[in-house]
Amino acid sequence: MSYFVDKKGYYGEFGGAFIPEMLYPNVKELEDNYLKIMQEPDFQKEFQELLKEYVGRPTPLYFAKRLSEKYNTKIYLKREDLCHTGAHKVNNTIGQILVAKKLGKSRVIAETGAGQHGVATATVCALMGIECVVYMGEVDIARQAPNVARMKMLGAKVVPALSGSRTLKDATNEAIRDWINNPVNTHYIIGSVVGPHPYPDMVARFQSVISEEIKKQLLEKEHTENPDYVIACVGGGSNAAGAFYHYLDEDNVKLIAVEAAGLGINSGESAATSVLGKEGIIHGSKTLLMQSKDGQITEPYSISAGLDYPGIGPLHAHLYKSKRAEFISITDAEAMDAGLELCQLEGIIPAIESAHALAVFKMKKFKKSDVVVLNLSGRGDKDLDTYVKYFKL
Ligand SMILES: *Cc1c(COP(=O)(O)O)cnc(C)c1O
Repeated sequence: MSYFVDKKGYYGEFGGAFIPEMLYPNVKELEDNYLKIMQEPDFQKEFQELLKEYVGRPTPLYFAKRLSEKYNTKIYLKREDLCHTGAHKVNNTIGQILVAKKLGKSRVIAETGAGQHGVATATVCALMGIECVVYMGEVDIARQAPNVARMKMLGAKVVPALSGSRTLKDATNEAIRDWINNPVNTHYIIGSVVGPHPYPDMVARFQSVISEEIKKQLLEKEHTENPDYVIACVGGGSNAAGAFYHYLDEDNVKLIAVEAAGLGINSGESAATSVLGKEGIIHGSKTLLMQSKDGQITEPYSISAGLDYPGIGPLHAHLYKSKRAEFISITDAEAMDAGLELCQLEGIIPAIESAHALAVFKMKKFKKSDVVVLNLSGRGDKDLDTYVKYFKL
């Protein structure tokens, strides 16, 4: 049994491409070409060069000595927070902008909730001189002013989504509408391992550089490529997919996916999709999502904007259902404390998303001899306001 995508775009019972007929040609073009393009030597050369020279890869695999002493186990942090733009998302947008160029596209669209994916997309569009339109809910535009400013500085056009709850899912609807109307010249950059096949697989492959590097770095430091555990937070699931990728079929490496419990799993204010979710279709793929009895998507909540997503990618739904990965939910309060703890033990200010993963050390006991790799998905600069208000600093 393999945990990778099958030929039809499924992970077990999850995945597929449930899209309106009008979108079929766009998705088909991508499906027919993405693997071919990604395997071309000149694509790989340009991708690898940009990861090195522009993103700053490989990111360090840092042995966190004081954190390890505190929890009496061996903790390594994979420092995606040191990527250009401050998180892992750029690994994917660099890959997709190169795919867009190979497909002859002159225009890129994206949707964004917290604005992080919008910034990562606007960044690579500026890098390549490609027109960029980012759809964002009107409510999110008001909540995420610094990221809106960043996108504008980078030359992107930010278009408010004015329908529904005026948040991420409405922005997604607008982006899909745009793509239907501009099938020839436009590429739609999706920011996580979500959406219709082939997006989840394509994004996972671009992010898989994370576990590719972990293997090499761990071999140097621990004389084995395989840790006992890999831990990562899950919004849509792209940083986790990247950190898990080369370990998916290695049974001796345990995988831990961390979701946001918000104010508590049963509080009605949460984003713990695996526990609370039911099978359904969101953004064109069959997966687990939070929904009402009559199938309407429930508005998620988390203090961390990046984990505030009502679904998870189909790979993760499969990892949950098959029990290949252990899923742990972490509340706002637990995450905030873990974030502050990393600052004071290691001198690293983590993104609040990543702080959810760090909170696992309080929930679960590891053996002294265990080698635990935690994917530190991003840095906390963007979250300073939230930290300051929360801790009354
Ligand atoms: C967006 C984001 C996440 C969540 O997205 P995934 O696709 O689940 O990785 C996690 N951490 C940071 C820092 C982010 O910006």
